[in-house]
Amino acid sequence: MKYTGSCHCGSVTFEFEEQEIKSGLRCNCSVCQKKGALMSAFTVSPEAMNINAAEGALATYSFGSGTAKHHFCSRCGIYPFHQTLRKPGHYRVNLGCLEGVDTTKLPFDVFDGASL
Ligand SMILES: [Zn+2]
Repeated sequence: MKYTGSCHCGSVTFEFEEQEIKSGLRCNCSVCQKKGALMSAFTVSPEAMNINAAEGALATYSFGSGTAKHHFCSRCGIYPFHQTLRKPGHYRVNLGCLEGVDTTKLPFDVFDGASL
């Protein structure tokens, strides 16, 4: 399936193809806990991730080892996706940013990022 996503203001949009999304992932690390987003259990390779961002819109936050890149829209503050710690360069997406996905209906697994 082709999935389309965006931040709230639309300055950042993205597309990728993936099997139908039937579950999500939450993480208890220091940043995910505060973010509170339901993210994808799958990762999207950099080649398969099609990102369109208005100039200067996409900002990045990293901490600790700096491996994970937590992207957010500098205009509306929404987190659309990040590049993971476990698979550097690959993306997990914020399922709440995807069209046609109701995150309140999805079961999820928990990743114990706090223990890394
Ligand atoms: Zn935005």
